Amino acid sequence: MHLQKNISIKAFVLIAAAVVFLSPGASAAGDRKLFDETYQFIFFATLEGLYRDGVSSADVDSLLATKGKDGGYLNFIYTCPICMPVEGAIVTYQLRPRIDHMKIQNSQTAERTFGFGLPKEVSDALRSEKSRIRLKAVNELVSKWISYRMEHSGLTGAQKQDLIEELKKRRKQGMEALRSFAAKMHGPDSMRFFAAGYEDGDECAVCNAALQMPLNLKSP
Ligand SMILES: [Zn+2]
Repeated sequence: MHLQKNISIKAFVLIAAAVVFLSPGASAAGDRKLFDETYQFIFFATLEGLYRDGVSSADVDSLLATKGKDGGYLNFIYTCPICMPVEGAIVTYQLRPRIDHMKIQNSQTAERTFGFGLPKEVSDALRSEKSRIRLKAVNELVSKWISYRMEHSGLTGAQKQDLIEELKKRRKQGMEALRSFAAKMHGPDSMRFFAAGYEDGDECAVCNAALQMPLNLKSP
């Protein structure tokens, strides 16, 4: 099962690299700045939120769930410049080390994190097989994490506005990626591999979250 998953993720990486490389404006790989300030803002907002909320390993598994044995992530759209740093931060958090020098044994030390975990209704929603319920929970979580960092990172009004403009551009790219997968531009299985949880949607839960927008799904 793991092997199949690894193969599909490897296949994704290769195809995603090709998609990015073939995009207009892509220069030689060495010239591109892969992890710019906006990427880092999204990454650290997510990592910080995971620690602050004390998200459990079980909830991390829900956030990183895939479609079946060999499908793509349910909550993220591949190559989306907002989904990818969020997913990267969750994978980093998944590998978090134990917290040393703590004599008290409680859920924080057991889960190797700072908070006490998500409310049960949020954990249940993240596990839901219904995209509408699951993606709404993802949208609200990421939205809270981005908003917290936006308010606590000492940005001036002008800097905040620049960041919001940058996030808007990236959300547009994410939506274009979703539309290209829905149009099967990267093969008949595009949706299953690259936007596996988004058959019902025309918007990205994570991208909307970055701009404090709720999620609108087509299905009721
Ligand atoms: Zn996205």
